[in-house]
Amino acid sequence: MCSLERFKIDLKSLIDETTVLDFDLDDQFFAALDGSEVRQGTLHASVSIRKATGFFELQFHIEGTVTVACDRCLDDMDQPIAADNRFIVKIGTAYSEEDDVITVSDGEDSGCRRLEGKAILDTSWLIYETIVLAIPIKHVHAPGKCNPAMSKVLEELSADRSSDVASDQPVDPRWSALLKLKDK
Ligand SMILES: [Zn+2]
Repeated sequence: MCSLERFKIDLKSLIDETTVLDFDLDDQFFAALDGSEVRQGTLHASVSIRKATGFFELQFHIEGTVTVACDRCLDDMDQPIAADNRFIVKIGTAYSEEDDVITVSDGEDSGCRRLEGKAILDTSWLIYETIVLAIPIKHVHAPGKCNPAMSKVLEELSADRSSDVASDQPVDPRWSALLKLKDK
């Protein structure tokens, strides 16, 4: 079981003006997070943390491949991802997220455990959200690479749908006139 502890950063322990952390993400990362959108993948995440006056600036760069369901045939497909994201993190009295400004509680982690003298930022969900946002809205296999059985069913369905459209045509006005007479 992959522990997510290594993604938790004590902001108060950062000494250098800029700290760069590198993470290799694999299926165990996604299993440990248990998010619904992505369950498998192999990616590299680079997190750069810059200390500024009163806040921290975090830059994420993530590259790799995630496994997602193809929109057309629902089989797994590999989706290449390259994503950049930026967050501002402040240390405050309680945890909050507002747009791209995150406040971490001074002396607590996100599970509200007392951690005297620390301010813990859990980057695992920020990394996950960055990956999810980078998945194209429409993701399908390359032409001809979809599951062949499913492709056949889909072709039949789309043929059915076009004949449905024909029967949805507005009723011939002469027929409506006759129906009105019949109702009287
Ligand atoms: Zn497909």
